[in-house]
Amino acid sequence: MDDKWSDDAPSKVYSCNNCLNPVAFSTDLLSKSFMAKSGRAAMFGSAMNVTVGEKEDRKLMTGHFTVGDIYCAKCGQVLGWKYFRAYEPRQVYKEGKYILEFAKLVKAAA
Ligand SMILES: [Zn+2]
Repeated sequence: MDDKWSDDAPSKVYSCNNCLNPVAFSTDLLSKSFMAKSGRAAMFGSAMNVTVGEKEDRKLMTGHFTVGDIYCAKCGQVLGWKYFRAYEPRQVYKEGKYILEFAKLVKAAA
């Protein structure tokens, strides 16, 4: 599997690919098994230097959620979304987590 994101040595930082604003650490990466419109995405336990947009209810592949888009706090590019509420009990673990799209990120040593 060709995967330029497979090397998850500690102390890597993911940055916005537009302005290089650091937005998340690889140590906060929880899962890479997410898909976004732009392609693969990952779930992070926390993110930084981002702003979260208006909450809205959205029907996603895995169910019904309240989410908000995540924007780069520096350049305003949409980087992914945050889960605020899951309506299905099996999806509750996603609440409060951040989804960042790999197509919008670059990874570098912290
Ligand atoms: Zn940016």
